[in-house]
Amino acid sequence: PLFLDDLARNVVADFAPLAANRHVDLGLTRADHVLVAGAEEALRILLGNLIDNAIRYSPTNTRIDVSVVNDAKTVRLEVNDTGTGIALNERGRVFDRFYRVLNSAESGSGLGLAIAKRIADQHQADITLSDGDGDMGLKVIVTFPENRE
Ligand code: ATP
Ligand code: MG
Repeated sequence: PLFLDDLARNVVADFAPLAANRHVDLGLTRADHVLVAGAEEALRILLGNLIDNAIRYSPTNTRIDVSVVNDAKTVRLEVNDTGTGIALNERGRVFDRFYRVLNSAESGSGLGLAIAKRIADQHQADITLSDGDGDMGLKVIVTFPENRE
């Protein structure tokens, strides 16, 4: 088991150089102290792939909020951006290997979300996509299984 907030702090720090380079403001907005069962290296890759996307598919001078939430409902990781977002009819496909939304401004191999999904599956976690909290962008939510003492 590992503390999800510590992991998020580390991954956000790892991506600070890329965020600075892209002039995107990346921050850990909420970091509830909570344990999850899991493999640290794998979970770092999962969160890293989500943050990498949020940075690459957001315009400059926007904000990306990463949150670790432990509330009455669930334990979850959230990455909220105000970038291009993903159209509703594409949301089912972006988890397929090599699938990329047409006209993506960025180059990539289309593997990041497939890998993230696989790692989530290994942890019995769910990944869902929804509209960003702002009027644009995407919110990716990873919900961990309930295993509270
Ligand atoms: P890589 O393998 O380098 O991650 P990729 O970013 O293209 O390549 P995925 O991370 O699997 O691959 O993402 C698949 C597609 O989903 C992307 O090509 C992009 O079109 C879309 N996408 C993913 N995350 C976001 C996001 N935060 N905002 C907008 N579009 C996104
Ligand atoms: Mg990616």
